Amino acid sequence: SGYLSRLRRSEPHLRSFLHVSEKVLMDAENVDRAVERGEDLGPLMGVLVGVKDNICTVDMPSTGGSRILEGYRPAFDATAVKRLRENGAIIVGKTNLDEFGMGGSTEGSGFQVTTNPWDVSRVPGGSSGGSAAAVSSRQCVVSLGSDTGGSVRQPASFCGVVGMKPTYGRVSRYGLMAYASSLDVIGCFGSSVIDTAILLKAISGHDRFDSTSSKHDVPDYVTDLASLDCLESKPLTGLRVGVIQETLGEGVDRGVISAVNAAASHLERLGSVVTEVSLPSFDLGLPAYYILASSEASSNLSRYDGVRYGSQVAADELGSLYGDSRAKGFGGEVKMRILMGTYALSAGYYDAYYKRAQQVRTLVQKSFKDALEKNDILISPAAPSVAYKIGEKTNDPLAMYAGDIMTVNVNLAGLPALVVPCGFVEGGTTSLPVGLQIIGPAFTEEKLLRVGHVFE
Ligand code: GLN
Repeated sequence: SGYLSRLRRSEPHLRSFLHVSEKVLMDAENVDRAVERGEDLGPLMGVLVGVKDNICTVDMPSTGGSRILEGYRPAFDATAVKRLRENGAIIVGKTNLDEFGMGGSTEGSGFQVTTNPWDVSRVPGGSSGGSAAAVSSRQCVVSLGSDTGGSVRQPASFCGVVGMKPTYGRVSRYGLMAYASSLDVIGCFGSSVIDTAILLKAISGHDRFDSTSSKHDVPDYVTDLASLDCLESKPLTGLRVGVIQETLGEGVDRGVISAVNAAASHLERLGSVVTEVSLPSFDLGLPAYYILASSEASSNLSRYDGVRYGSQVAADELGSLYGDSRAKGFGGEVKMRILMGTYALSAGYYDAYYKRAQQVRTLVQKSFKDALEKNDILISPAAPSVAYKIGEKTNDPLAMYAGDIMTVNVNLAGLPALVVPCGFVEGGTTSLPVGLQIIGPAFTEEKLLRVGHVFE
């Protein structure tokens, strides 16, 4: 109930939710009664979870932050949501996002702008800004986001919470509105590494409704972490940590660099061997990501034509029904991505853009593979800056895209990455959190959580 009253009080300032469940109190009372009866509903029993609004819920609207889906109520729960309910969780509501996940500040929502709980004149990051702000301000305990190019990790960094982007395929995408299917993954926010681990465990694992979901075993992330508390003073002895050189240079805030350097020294004091590592194709990742993500988006979003999906604008003939429905329903950023993607995929330009971007993707995968043969984990900032002012980048899409430089490569390679708060930068009247990104080989979420835990 502390969470719910906090939610009521803070929501007018934060606007992190697009919808708050009407039956959250009833659900909570049902859990109380079950507890009285001595029933065990599961590891998330009674835990209030926020769910990003591009993840389908049967009992609440799911808009993906887009006007085109205003009023849409899915006929089913996403697999991740279904698993949350099976583990006893209460879905408190649907959190705000940049339309269909396209953006980095949550200012691109078709409905409202969410603010950063540390300073309400600043953005919470994005696209899962609502989920990050809600956990940061304790409007809910944990939340789900999605990460196509950094949308869990960058808002976690801006809001000072823990954010996990799992390995591609670790969590079923069934019921996640597709943005760029080869990059999309559902991720987790928590105010501690343990909370994040509990949430991750609940939603992970194979799902027959998503052929790309992995059959890889789901380890017990939680017990593994608990056993760490009684370890000796150098719990990371022998761990080889590579600091990605390209992420600590020009264009990165000085305060961010010093917080990450301090984190590296902390890892060293706990026994790990820290060296610098270079990822030669690092800078190519950003343009390649924007070509691939927009290309996939242009195909995925074709379903919103006002007939199959999306609100319909009345028209005399089919062409204008499609055109007018899209013109009215989609926001500017989404239209721009569809145009960019359609262009990159068109016959005359395919080789020059899409194919070339796929080649870069292979290079990025290879450079991570090489770096992760010599190192157990890699570290970098989660974003080149701390949270910036609302409105600062809204008229400059390229500046917004440049903010994704730290995160997009990880999606191109399909790897897991955890973000944990690692320090602060003084920003005007308040200090603003900095996030450390910890990257590992595929399916090493367990290890990343263990390393992240030493920052708490
Ligand atoms: N900011 C990036 C984009 O707009 C990443 C978004 C995401 O991960 N969903 O594409």
